[in-house]
Amino acid sequence: MTQRLPALLCLNAGSSSVKFSLYAVMAGAPSLLLGGQIEGLLTQPNFNVKDAQGNTLDEQRWEQPKRRAEAVETILDYVRAEAKDYRLVAVGHRVVLGGTEYPHAVVVDDAVLDVLDHYAPIVPSHQPAEIEAIRLLRTLHPDLCQVACFDSAFHRTKSDIADLYALPLSYRDKGIRRWGFHGLSYDYISTQLPQLDSRLAAGKTIVMHLGSGASLCGMQQGRSAYTSMGFSPLDGLMMGTRCGSLDPMIPLYLMNQYRMTPAAVEKLLIKESGLLGVSGISNDMRDLEASNDPAARLAIDLFVAMLARETGAAIAAIQGLDGIVFTAGIGEHSPEIRARTCASLGWAGVEFDEARNLAASASARKISTDQSRISVWVIPTNEEIVIARDTWQRYQSTN
Ligand code: ADP
Repeated sequence: MTQRLPALLCLNAGSSSVKFSLYAVMAGAPSLLLGGQIEGLLTQPNFNVKDAQGNTLDEQRWEQPKRRAEAVETILDYVRAEAKDYRLVAVGHRVVLGGTEYPHAVVVDDAVLDVLDHYAPIVPSHQPAEIEAIRLLRTLHPDLCQVACFDSAFHRTKSDIADLYALPLSYRDKGIRRWGFHGLSYDYISTQLPQLDSRLAAGKTIVMHLGSGASLCGMQQGRSAYTSMGFSPLDGLMMGTRCGSLDPMIPLYLMNQYRMTPAAVEKLLIKESGLLGVSGISNDMRDLEASNDPAARLAIDLFVAMLARETGAAIAAIQGLDGIVFTAGIGEHSPEIRARTCASLGWAGVEFDEARNLAASASARKISTDQSRISVWVIPTNEEIVIARDTWQRYQSTN
């Protein structure tokens, strides 16, 4: 009898959704079998699964909200049934913050869970959900190796200066640092650059991850030297519902003068601000681009202005610029935002090619002119494959 190939499940547990993908390990490398999600946990959950070519394999809808634990069990049952020709050996979890303790992925044990719990209050919108999924699987399936893959890990190469706030130094020991996030995405882009553009791989490149959460990373030789997100995923760029950089006096003022509770201020900054807050219309860039409402235009103008401002800070921090990469939902799919961002960086030597920018393609492509001193690329990100590779590597190191 032939031995079944090993398979890996990647899980990304959020506040109202659980995303997953299943990989088979073939000739030592993870290869995608299927991926999907359960969205809308708090309202009417919707389950959908697609194969590696994007064809729908399954769709279900429930009328009643589902607990996250039920969603994880549903996914595991589905995956176990689908993967019966494979041997499910490990689950890789996206975890936002692993602190200084974990500058790389790690196999989860009790000590790791203690560290994750310690950092959870810094990322209340994501980390408690991720920890809950890990604990649930440890109880239900203790046979499965579980690996935590961190969004913060890629940024542990930053210098002390790029990590520090100007508070008394003792606060750094309380974990008040510029951790930085979206590291799984930046890690993926850094692995693509050598094949696509060796000058950017070896040089100074700003990667703009523009999804519903947004940040940028100033890379030197493919390593993080600067990032716009700081202590939490709230800092830096304007996002779908998050405010980005803010004078730290503002939350204090709202609590003192307007008697807002800390919970109300947290909700304002994380859930009610950004594109949604300024436009009053939507947190989705597609809706704003399609709208003639002046408030939608204002939100887009502010998004581009904050991005240009942070790019200037990143250029200063990494002392120069060879290239820019756009990635994630907005970065990959919005020619308007790319064009306006490039236009605002003409002063830095960016010349983009309108036809290349407009050309629809799902693959990595250059959108700067051939004469541009700064090369500009669109590179689709793939955080799941980074989780799958790291999970396989950690699993192998312990088995
Ligand atoms: P997440 O950050 O949730 O993982 P994505 O990276 O997929 O999500 O980014 C989602 C966001 O990308 C959407 O909220 C939307 O604003 C934006 N987006 C997706 N497609 C387009 C498009 N064609 N034009 C403009 N914006 C888009």
